[in-house]
Amino acid sequence: MAHNPKKELIRQKRRVRGGVRVPHYKNTADCATVELPVPGQVTIAMQQHIGRPCIPCVKKGDRVLVGDRVGDCTDGMCVPVHTGVSGQVTGITELLLPNGQSCQAVQIEADGQQTVSDAVCPPVVENREMFLQAVKDAGLVGLGGAGFPAYIKLNPGKPVDTLVVNAAECEPYITCDNREILENAQDIMRGVYAIRRYTDVQQVIFVVESNKPAAIRTLCDIAADSADTDNSVRVMRVASRYPRGAEKLTIYAATGRKVPPGGLPADVGCIVMNVTSVGTLGRYLQTGMPLVAKRLTVDGSAVQCPMNVRVPIGTAIKDVIAFAGGYAQEPGKLLMGGPMMGIALPDDTLPVLKQNNAILALNKQDAESPAFSACIRCGRCIKACPMGLQPVTVETDLRAENIGRLQKDGVQSCMECGCCAYVCPARRPLVQSMRLAKQALRR
Ligand code: SF4
Ligand code: SF4
Repeated sequence: MAHNPKKELIRQKRRVRGGVRVPHYKNTADCATVELPVPGQVTIAMQQHIGRPCIPCVKKGDRVLVGDRVGDCTDGMCVPVHTGVSGQVTGITELLLPNGQSCQAVQIEADGQQTVSDAVCPPVVENREMFLQAVKDAGLVGLGGAGFPAYIKLNPGKPVDTLVVNAAECEPYITCDNREILENAQDIMRGVYAIRRYTDVQQVIFVVESNKPAAIRTLCDIAADSADTDNSVRVMRVASRYPRGAEKLTIYAATGRKVPPGGLPADVGCIVMNVTSVGTLGRYLQTGMPLVAKRLTVDGSAVQCPMNVRVPIGTAIKDVIAFAGGYAQEPGKLLMGGPMMGIALPDDTLPVLKQNNAILALNKQDAESPAFSACIRCGRCIKACPMGLQPVTVETDLRAENIGRLQKDGVQSCMECGCCAYVCPARRPLVQSMRLAKQALRR
C-alpha cells in the first residue's frame, strides 16, 4: 500500500470533556503475538455475549474438530460458539462467570492434532442478508469487552451512515488492538469494505489515541488504499486520555453527535465496532474460520514475562499465565481486562471468553486499595467525569435514599469508567456508589 499524504489524519469534531491521565504501562506494545501451545483441555462457556445463552449441541464422547460448532443459538439475541481445539468432549458442566452469572460449558480434551473441520470454508456472501448471517455464523461479538452480538450491531433497524472503528485502546497495559492493527491490517481492511458494501454505512472513521504512532501510520495506509475510491475511510487521532475509547465519547469525538442518555449509537446514525472485531470479520470472510481464538495481553507486576498471546477460547487462565512464565510474585489481584474497568477474578481456573482482551495479575502492593476517608468537597470527581455527572452528589443522595434526586442525578448515564474514583483524594468508593445507585433506581 503506497502511503498517500492526502489521506492523513482528520481533526476530532468536538473536544471531549473530563477523563484522566493514567500511566499507560503499554509494556507489550512491541511484543508480536505468539501462539499458545494447544492446551490439554478447554472449557467453552455457552454465554459469551450479551443476550440469551447457547445450548450445547455436542455430548460427552463426541469428537470435535477445530471450527466445529459446540453451542447453538436459542431464540432471541444469541450467537453460536465454536471450538478452537480438536479432541473429545468430556462433559457438559456448570460454570460461574466472572460477572456472577452461571451458564453451561462444554469441556473438551484436546488431542493436540488441531484437525480443522470440513465445515470451515469461506462463506458465500452476495447480499445484505447473507452478510448478516455470515457475521452471526462467525460467532462474532464486540471484542472490546462488551460482547454485544455483531450481527445485531450491523443491523440496528435504524438508518446509519457512519462506522466508527474504535482503535483507541485507552486502558493501561492492554495492547492487543494495537497488535491487531500492526499484524492484521489486511483483515481490517477486508472487514471495513465488507461492512461498507453490505450495510448503509457511507463513511468510516478510525479513532486511535496519539500514543500509538505505528498503528496510526498503518491505519492511514488502510485509509489511503485504492479501494477507497470516494475518500470515505479516514483516521482520527485523539489525545491520549482515559476513557477516550468509551463508545459515546468516541462517537462524539468522531462525528460531534451526542448519544442521548439510555440511547444507542444507532440513535445518532452510527455503528461503533472495535478494531479487532472488524479484523476478525475480515478473516472469517476469507477463511471461514469462526471466532475460536483470542489475542490477549498478559501483563501486571505479578507476571513473569508480559506478552501478547493468541489462545483458544476456553483455555484456563492459569495455562495462559504459566505460558507467560508463571507468577513472578504472589498475585494480590487477578483481573479479566484492564485495571480501570476489568473484572476481578476469584482465581485463575476460569476459562478465557470471547470478549476477554487482557489478563492482569498485580502483586499485593499494587493491588492494595487505600482506606477511604471523608469527602473534602474538592469537586475533582465532577471535573473528571466524562459524562458530566456529579459523583459526590450521587453518593450523598444514595446515603439519603433519595430516589427522586438519584433520577435527576442521571446515574443511568454512568459508564463505570472509574475516573471519579481515580482522582478522588479521599479514595471514596465512587464507582461502587454509582452501581448501588443504579440498582436502587432499578428496584
Ligand atoms: S464512573 Fe461514572 S460517575 Fe464516575 S467518572 Fe465514570 S461515568 Fe462519571
Ligand atoms: S473527589 Fe472525592 S473528596 Fe473530592 S468532592 Fe469528589 S468525592 Fe469528595
